[in-house]
Amino acid sequence: MDQPVWTELQAKYIRDGRPSVVGIVLHDTAGSGTHSDTLYLANPGDGRKVSVDFTVERNGSVWKLNPDLMKLHCLHAGRATRFKGLVNGAVTRATIGIEICQSADLSLSPVYTDAQVSSTALLCAWLVKRFKLTTSDITTHRQIITDGSRSDPRRFPFEGGAGFWQYYWTSMGKGEQHAVSAIMAKTPDPDLQQRTHNVASRDTLASIAKKYYGRASLWPVIQKANGLKSSIIVSGQVLIIPAKS
Ligand SMILES: [Zn+2]
Repeated sequence: MDQPVWTELQAKYIRDGRPSVVGIVLHDTAGSGTHSDTLYLANPGDGRKVSVDFTVERNGSVWKLNPDLMKLHCLHAGRATRFKGLVNGAVTRATIGIEICQSADLSLSPVYTDAQVSSTALLCAWLVKRFKLTTSDITTHRQIITDGSRSDPRRFPFEGGAGFWQYYWTSMGKGEQHAVSAIMAKTPDPDLQQRTHNVASRDTLASIAKKYYGRASLWPVIQKANGLKSSIIVSGQVLIIPAKS
């Protein structure tokens, strides 16, 4: 796998020390959704001490704000967070942050561009290989926040044909797999409470449950929500995928 193309722009607020990288945290900037968001994270004009390892802009361009991922860390998830037994500052020290440029009011159309989704996925795939991580080490700010104050990346398309996981698995030569990270499945995006799934020829209720919930054994949830009397589904059928309670 080739290293993604990126542009270096060193962030002002970078700290020494990186124990080992244990995960990747996805965010959205909730700014303007433009290059200004990258410039802000490189050098916040309002005095907030924040930074991030990478940004991904709407044209798919990747900006690397941490000049040395092995030795330095950024300040992207240090408050009210918990991940793998680490809290607050320890989380930000041990994770690579990726800010996906997005407007505060989600008014851009499309909300995320295809170039942005695929660039984010390819960057994650490369980082997973580079730091010997696994898919379940990819998480979101929403998942690791402990006080409910963050829900980013908001409305990011993880699922579906042009979704994050499809690009991620395809880059690893496993396009059919696109399974959801088990950690991520625990906290569904509140903006995507009711999803639908177009049944493909190889799908089973169990494989669909695995995809959306991370557990095949949850297939009765989908069966019940759709009023199915058996587990038989047919290609082209549209199923409601309820939020896991
Ligand atoms: Zn965030």
